[in-house]
Amino acid sequence: MAKSKRGKALWKTPARSRGTCPICNSTRIKLLYDIVNEDGENLKVCKRCQKHKI
Ligand SMILES: [Zn+2]
Repeated sequence: MAKSKRGKALWKTPARSRGTCPICNSTRIKLLYDIVNEDGENLKVCKRCQKHKI
């Protein structure tokens, strides 16, 4: 068993789901949720902002 890999894999996760939340401006946060704003645009927001909605 290769124990040396442990822990490091987490930091290698691709950045595709990470970014800056347009609502709370948190950087390097996971943007997992799509919401639609007043203008009908799709926004990727973080978990917290998804609950608030606009
Ligand atoms: Zn947010």
